[in-house]
Amino acid sequence: MKWNRIVVKLGGTIILLFLVVLLPVGFVINQIFSGFYFSKVQEDIDQLSSRYADAIAATQNPMMVKMMADFSQVKLYIVDVDGQIIVDPGLAGLSKGSFISKAEVQALAKGNTINKRYEDSFSGNQYLVSGNSIKNENLFYGGVYVLSSTEGIQQSVQKVRDLLVLSGIGAFFLALGFTFVISRKLSDPLIQMEHATRKIAKGDLNTRVDVLSRDEMGSLAHAINDLAVDLQRYRDTRSEFFANISHELRTPMTYLEGYAKVVKDGLYQTEEERNRYLDIIYQESVRLTHLIHDLFELSKMEEGKISFSLEWIDLSEVIEHVTLKAGLKAKEKGLEIQVDLQRNLPMIYADGLRMEQIFLNLVENAIRYTEKGTVFVQMKRTNSNEILISIEDTGIGIPQNELPYIFDRFYRVEKSRSREYGGTGLGLAIVKKLVELQDGTIEVSSEVGRGTRLVLRFPLTSKGED
Ligand code: ADP
Repeated sequence: MKWNRIVVKLGGTIILLFLVVLLPVGFVINQIFSGFYFSKVQEDIDQLSSRYADAIAATQNPMMVKMMADFSQVKLYIVDVDGQIIVDPGLAGLSKGSFISKAEVQALAKGNTINKRYEDSFSGNQYLVSGNSIKNENLFYGGVYVLSSTEGIQQSVQKVRDLLVLSGIGAFFLALGFTFVISRKLSDPLIQMEHATRKIAKGDLNTRVDVLSRDEMGSLAHAINDLAVDLQRYRDTRSEFFANISHELRTPMTYLEGYAKVVKDGLYQTEEERNRYLDIIYQESVRLTHLIHDLFELSKMEEGKISFSLEWIDLSEVIEHVTLKAGLKAKEKGLEIQVDLQRNLPMIYADGLRMEQIFLNLVENAIRYTEKGTVFVQMKRTNSNEILISIEDTGIGIPQNELPYIFDRFYRVEKSRSREYGGTGLGLAIVKKLVELQDGTIEVSSEVGRGTRLVLRFPLTSKGED
């Protein structure tokens, strides 16, 4: 396994956590156990010293008690009424004939139990000591002290300590193993994802990451795969877009070049013929200007650089203006434009000029692709809170299988005839973007030979109702 940062960070944190928890817990357990042992022994020798004191008081025979003590393997010393040791425990500092402190004698005389510790200066052994007064019918005879070595307690406490340390070490290694497994589980997919994203960045867009879980790792892997798919789509559309642009530019350029050469070299018979060629040159340059303008618009929109000057507008005014503008072209083709606008509709919050651009484009398309009949423009409020505008014609129509694509850039139905109609193939793509950027929708339905209907919907907000 690579000792990457996650392993170190995670391992470090878990071990630190273990230490933070284990050390105080170990300390507390140690304290509890030693406290327990000490008080247990203290209690035992308290009882013992009290029993010995009673026995001496009853029998007046300290030597017998001494023997009993020897038998039960505890040390003991007995003092008389003045605090002088009359039976010694065989320890250097407590020899027979020496005296205990006055304060202790007084405490014993009062019947108090004395608890203390004693360290044998010779052997260095430590003892717990319990002293009790020897009394009989309120007469004070002295005191008896029982000593218990703490060695046994220390040993028991040490055993507990050893056990604690051992389980601590066990837990430490368990944590280490756990860290190893968890880190592997975490870092392996991350490393795989890193490799995959680097490959994607280098352009290998077919790279995919295995989605192994449904957690955050899984969704990250999904996101990387989605990104690769998006990039692939973007790359495809971009190359298709460039291919389209060069094709669209090349066609008028070929015309321009060809006819300009014909005129320049005087390869025409009559003045009329020359004018016809010049006319073509003019139309092709107009088409080029349109194309460049549309391309520029579209690229601005796609980069999100287009700005709208939004205001409350009356759509019926916009539509009347558009039909007036397009009226001349319709008249030239002998078409009728019918307009049916529901009156007093609420205003909508949109860009008036952009709206005009949208409807002019659609009405001009309707005129362009209709040879005879009517272009019908209708606007009404639907039941839901929106305004619906439809532009319907009785023109050539669009085949069903082509309908899904007509909003795509450069998409044209009937490629061979499209030049005849003089469009750029970008109009509907621009219209769709403009509609969507103003929260609207656009749909198309059509029947070949009968006509086409484009339906736009824009939401009404409460302010527009005022
Ligand atoms: P163009 O500039 O070529 O008109 P558009 O993007 O406006 O490009 O339209 C895309 C294609 O959709 C057109 O080439 C045309 O074939 C078809 N189209 C658009 N509007 C109509 C319509 N009203 N009737 C029939 N075909 C249409």
